[in-house]
Parts: sequence; structure tokens; C-alpha cells
Amino acid sequence: NAVPDVTLINGRSIPQLGFGVFKVDPDTTAEIVAEALKVGYRHIDTAAIYRNEEGVGAAIAQSGIPREELFITTKLWNDDQGTDSARKALDTSLGKLGLDYVDLYLIHWPAPQRDTYVQSWQTLEQLNADGKARSIGVSNFLPEHLERLADESDTVPAVNQIELHPAYQQREVTDYCRSHGIKIEAWGPLGQGKYDLLELPEVTGPAQAHGKTPAQVVLRWHLQQGHIVFPKSSNPERIAENFQVTDCSLTDDEMAGITGLERGGRVSAHPSEVN
Ligand code: NAD
Repeated sequence: NAVPDVTLINGRSIPQLGFGVFKVDPDTTAEIVAEALKVGYRHIDTAAIYRNEEGVGAAIAQSGIPREELFITTKLWNDDQGTDSARKALDTSLGKLGLDYVDLYLIHWPAPQRDTYVQSWQTLEQLNADGKARSIGVSNFLPEHLERLADESDTVPAVNQIELHPAYQQREVTDYCRSHGIKIEAWGPLGQGKYDLLELPEVTGPAQAHGKTPAQVVLRWHLQQGHIVFPKSSNPERIAENFQVTDCSLTDDEMAGITGLERGGRVSAHPSEVN
């Protein structure tokens, strides 16, 4: 079960399929991440605000998996944006994770009303140069925010992690990113379970045809477009299910059917709302 790598703009690789831990209970995170590592996931997506970095760290330490075989992402929370505060925040995250470096460090939200994301980005550039973050990127950035980074810094974000699932595909953002070499990480790849995505015929039809589950079909749809995904589940069966998505391929028609489900239907917060 080989997970493809995606090459980032700085030449480093990221496993295209990972495991996300938003809303994974801090008390059970170590156990759940251990399960994911056992299944074969090597890429874990957490954030300071998820309050479960310690659990992720414990699972990593107990796994005995060599550090270089893992890809660990965490994120700078809005309250810690700035220069010294961002530097301190990464040190705190590294302490909780029990790591010397993260593979990817992201600005979690632009939080434009604070007007500190450019300054934070310049700090991430230094953390990257220091080797504490092998790659750096952003999350929930709109083209206007990315444009400011382009004007006021020297580094193109490796990724932009945005809400993206069939009902909400953010074409304007993905077009911008594609044309600037910024890889798309799709958060909420299954729509966070908040709409009937997994019951729609455009999804269930291909699932039947390929002997896959609807969730596997949606994850396939992401992978075939080049999105990096890290579905979340706390259920061992689903953790395993979501990893079995590299052994089938959707047809162009099946892909188009799912792409046709766009309806501007975001299920979570808009970047201008989160400060
Ligand atoms: P998701 O789309 O991965 O949905 C998770 C939910 O889908 C689960 O709680 C469960 O209800 C359902 N589910 C999972 N597997 C299933 C299966 N096989 N069959 C049926 N239902 C299934 O949503 P998410 O967790 O919000 O997103 C994934 C990851 O993205 C997060 O864990 C986190 O790492 C990241 N994320 C980032 C941001 C951000 O602002 N950067 C925001 C949200 C999430």
C-alpha cells in the first residue's frame, strides 16, 4: 500500500495521504495515533489549538518508527502570531511533540484583522532557515493574503491548507495556488461528515462499481486531483478504511460526476471570520 509522495516547491516530499487529528480527544490521542501508525500512516496533521500535540508525540515516541520516515505538521495559533511569540510557539509545540523539528509548520489562519500574518511569515522563514521547520506554509489563506506574502517576503508557501470537498472546491484559491507552485492540502476532505456527501449517487455509484466505500471514493477524488489529504477518524475500522485508497482509480466520468457536486457549500468558518 504505497502512498504517493508530492514534491513541494522547496524540493522536499510529503506523503499525499495522512491522518488528521482535529477533534481527537487529547486523552485518547496517543492511542488513536498509535493505531494510525500501525495501519501505515506516516503523515500526521495536528495544531497547537487541537491541544493534542502531546498525544501525537507520545505515539511517535512509542512507535519506534525512525524520525525520517515520519512527516509531522503542526500550526501556529492566531494568538501567537508575531515575531517572538511565533518563535516561542514553535518551541512549545516541539516540546510537546518531543521533536527537534517539524516537517511542516503552518500559519493556521490569516486572521487579517490582526494584520500580523506577514510578520509571522517572516518569522517562519527564519524558523525554516534554523532547521526547526523543514517546510513552511499557510492555511486558510485567500489569494489576497498570498499576494501580500509574495510582495513582502522571499519564500513561497509550500502548501495552503484549505477547506475543500466536493460541495466546496474553492476554485479561485486553487487556481492561484496551482499557478504559483503552492500545493493544496484539503481539510475537511469528507465535508467533516456535515452533509449527505457519502449518500449522493455520484459517490455511491462509483463506490459500488469499484467495491469501495463512499468515503474511499471521495478520498480517491482528492488524490487524483493532486490534493494532499489527512482524513480524521477516531474509529479503528475507519482509520484503516481511509488508508486503503491507493489501489483503485476513478474514471474521468466518475471524477467529473463528483466535481459536479460543487454548490459553494462550505461547512466551516470563512477566513475573514476567524481572528
Ligand atoms: P473530515 O472531512 O476528515 O471528516 C471527519 C469526519 O468524517 C469524522 O469525524 C467522521 O464523522 C467522518 N468520517 C471519517 N471517516 C469516515 C468514513 N470512512 N466513513 C464515514 N464517515 C467518516 O474533517 P476534518 O477532521 O475536519 O478534516 C481533516 C483534518 O484536516 C483534521 O483532522 C485536521 O487535521 C485538518 N483541519 C484543518 C483545519 C484548518 O483550519 N487548517 C480545519 C479543520 C480540519
